[in-house]
Amino acid sequence: MLQGQVAIVTGASRGIGRATALELARLGAHVLVNYQRSAAAADEVVAAIKEVGGDALAFPADVCDENAVTAMVEAALTRWGRLDILVNNAGITADAPLARLKPEQWRLVIDTDLTSVFICSKAVLETMRQQGYGRIITVGSLAGLAGNVGQTNYAAAKAGIIGFSRALAREVAQQGITVNVVAPGYIETDMLEGVSPAIREWALGTIAMGRFGKVEEVATSVAFLAAPQASYITGHVLTVDGGWAMP
Ligand code: NAP
Repeated sequence: MLQGQVAIVTGASRGIGRATALELARLGAHVLVNYQRSAAAADEVVAAIKEVGGDALAFPADVCDENAVTAMVEAALTRWGRLDILVNNAGITADAPLARLKPEQWRLVIDTDLTSVFICSKAVLETMRQQGYGRIITVGSLAGLAGNVGQTNYAAAKAGIIGFSRALAREVAQQGITVNVVAPGYIETDMLEGVSPAIREWALGTIAMGRFGKVEEVATSVAFLAAPQASYITGHVLTVDGGWAMP
């Protein structure tokens, strides 16, 4: 389905990004596996892709750093000569109730989870325009739709992603480029490990399916929107939440 295509997945050393890189590679794409610090984990993702006959490249870049992101995009273009898919997945949390939220925590999360999406999307846009083809998918969060206690910074960033993606979707809609958001609920990753047992228990009780999601369940949703066949879907927010946010 993605044979001969090239993808960049940010934050692909662990969690949802890792599963997405593996899924896009399984479907035939060459994948740049971006990470910030986990070099060994990123190398392991590359090795897993190569083991099944795919091609991948690990590339360290802080997604908040414009120069590093430019170098990352150039690395993909030098290696494979085109760029079809960008998955803006890298993200962090720095939770605290607003009364205790420090300006540094606010800025760190807005930079990492929102400004990075602007930086990475801008960095791939000209190539996608020239190709007349592209898929930009950003991993948002249910927190950006419904809010979440202790996450005003994270919810603001994830809501910002939706406005950004819809605005960009309109800008590039006639150039063969689609821009969409996948908004997961609670997914079993290192990020969820950081959530207190009390909140985890509360969350489980609110999810219709009564379980947390698996990274593969988000990865297949990203891959769906990344496919050439998803050509008439843009500006969409696809929730992947086990029925948590059903109206
Ligand atoms: P995770 O397991 O904590 O992994 C985070 C990934 O992001 C790692 O690969 C990390 O790289 C990378 N990263 C962090 N800061 C970066 C930076 N400045 N530059 C480049 N890479 C950076 O996270 P996850 O749970 O898979 O979450 C992935 C995405 O899904 C995030 O956008 C998150 O907000 C969203 N999400 C997660 C959940 C959930 O329940 N897990 C729910 C909703 C949405 P290193 O390994 O090098 O540090």
